[in-house]
Amino acid sequence: MPELKSVDPEVYEAIRNEIVRENKKIILIASENVSSMAVLEAQGCVMTNKYAEGYPRKRYYGGCEYVDVVEELAISRAKAIFGAEHVNVQPHSGTQANMGVYFAVLKPGDTIMGMDLSHGGHLSHGSRVNFSGIFYNVASYGVSRETGMIDYDEVKRIALERRPRMIIIGASAYSRTIDFKRFHEIAKEAGAYTLADIAHIAGLIAAGVHPSPFPYTDFVTTTTHKTLRGPRGGMIMCKEEYAKLIDKSIFPGIQGGPLMHIIAAKAVALKEAMMPEFRDYQAQIVANAKRLAAGLIGKGYNLVSGGTDNHLMLVDLRSKGITGKDAEAALDVSGITVNKNTVPFDDKPPAVTSGIRIGTPVMTTRGMKEREMDKIVEYIDRVLTNIGKEDVYREVREKVEVLCSKFPAY
Ligand SMILES: *Cc1c(COP(=O)(O)O)cnc(C)c1O
Repeated sequence: MPELKSVDPEVYEAIRNEIVRENKKIILIASENVSSMAVLEAQGCVMTNKYAEGYPRKRYYGGCEYVDVVEELAISRAKAIFGAEHVNVQPHSGTQANMGVYFAVLKPGDTIMGMDLSHGGHLSHGSRVNFSGIFYNVASYGVSRETGMIDYDEVKRIALERRPRMIIIGASAYSRTIDFKRFHEIAKEAGAYTLADIAHIAGLIAAGVHPSPFPYTDFVTTTTHKTLRGPRGGMIMCKEEYAKLIDKSIFPGIQGGPLMHIIAAKAVALKEAMMPEFRDYQAQIVANAKRLAAGLIGKGYNLVSGGTDNHLMLVDLRSKGITGKDAEAALDVSGITVNKNTVPFDDKPPAVTSGIRIGTPVMTTRGMKEREMDKIVEYIDRVLTNIGKEDVYREVREKVEVLCSKFPAY
């Protein structure tokens, strides 16, 4: 980055440090990934210069012939991968994608029903501090206290009692397979639209290692930067009958000019998702998560729901007498990045929490397999059983750096 280095050495330095951080730490944030140089090149391209309000071949600006190419490629690839009838690749983020769907078919004051944030749902599914909880009446469902899994009979009971206009299916911290068909049947009985928010598991679904919400749900939203491994952004997929409503809702409803450089990068990521290697990658993410979960259970840790079917797990630290906040801090000093996370029925506030969320997409992209997962279990356990011992943190950090040197991000 020679230009950047000379024009703005401070930003250059921060970016350089970020590359070093991504290379030398074990990153287990379940919502993150390492996108390819091809994605980064597209994301850093001249299409950031272009105004393209509207949709391909129907723009409000001249000179859109090349940005039309990338947007059409992104749309057709997403359709092919997911089997969607209609795709909008313009949402700036996952939250924006959800807003686009809500504004398309709901009125303020309508009831939406999503997974409770403290049970693994997302802010944009009706949290009080989010627009979704401000504009809409919220009914929520959660997981069973006994199993840590979604209780579909309970979902049905709440849906029939509260009669939501829309049921939102999806989570940010749920480690089990989601039964989209079951949700669809419940929604049909309750007279609700269905929105599957597959932000976390889009890559798994693209590769066929998690069941797809198609053809059941009316709307599907996703981010493009989590397991899908593309640029930071969002996407909406829906049945053809809702195509016009969705497109109008995104533009001119809630966005102006689309980020054409990001859409170019989305097209690239979707091309990568069509390669056979991507299927292997997603299968390895799940294999790694299962190995990590088994290792932690072997060391006496409680996992919410007792394990994982996907790319993440939620460790309930209450039996170990550590808070999520302290675990996150101790691990970070030791070279391992996780995030504190509430566990279902948590008695601690969100700034403290009783759990940590662990995911394998980043380290799997960096080439790690089951053998390395075993080492990560050792490191995590060593730190968490020696809270406050700086010499242990240092010892683990050194081991982490040696291991990471064989698995660089870039
Ligand atoms: C990450 C996530 C989002 C939102 O993504 P942003 O791009 O951060 O707005 C939406 N829904 C779910 C379930 C998520 O996990």
